[in-house]
Amino acid sequence: MLTGFRYRLAPTGEQAGLCQVYGDICRAVWNTGLHQRREAVRRWQRGQDLPFCGYHLQARQLAEAKTEEEWLKAAPSHILQQTLRDLDRACRDHGTFNVRWRAKGRWKPSFRFPAGARVIVQRLGRKWGRLKLPKLGWVRFRWSRSAKGTVDAPGTHVRQKAGLNRAILARGWHGFKLACQNAARRSATRIVEVNPAYTSQTCHPCGHVASENRESPSVFRCGACGYRAHADVNAARNTRARGWTSPSG
Ligand SMILES: [Zn+2]
Repeated sequence: MLTGFRYRLAPTGEQAGLCQVYGDICRAVWNTGLHQRREAVRRWQRGQDLPFCGYHLQARQLAEAKTEEEWLKAAPSHILQQTLRDLDRACRDHGTFNVRWRAKGRWKPSFRFPAGARVIVQRLGRKWGRLKLPKLGWVRFRWSRSAKGTVDAPGTHVRQKAGLNRAILARGWHGFKLACQNAARRSATRIVEVNPAYTSQTCHPCGHVASENRESPSVFRCGACGYRAHADVNAARNTRARGWTSPSG
């Protein structure tokens, strides 16, 4: 086991935003996992013979889901696996139907990096230290034992932050669209929807369309003219150009 010292992390605004997103993803994984377990128990009670829904089955299914769901990939895999382990433990200790949902308002976003995760700790001075966490990078913390923190080294609790990512996760794309329309009404901005087909495969300067133009998920390189750019930037320029010429706009 780890020693019991707790340290309060001092994340940057960007890191706090990421922590919020990770917390939201863990909450979604917890709730989905708990729902699945309850359904499995109900079906078992009705006499249906099914594979036991435990940690290993869920971890395998989570790994499969991660190949398709972009929003799941945003979080370090360690903390998602840890969420399923914690769920497994809670269900075995308290019973599947006594384990609570992680409601958005009630549950304080938190996640844990298991002991196997690569966490590097450095001392910066008498009072400050920093630790390197997967995907978050270096996070500073106060090197003080007296801090009755809400944060320990292998996990963080971060203040609620109403970020864009959070809104997308919580409300899905439909909610995101509504939020954009509301913001547009207040700021006299017009929203134009465009057909996104081939925006990621089209070379913005020359118009050449080919799936080979994508060198990697992040790099765009045109097979015709050699133009090279971040894939998201190239796609965004195509999207903006379509907006200007779109009949709905
Ligand atoms: Zn080109």
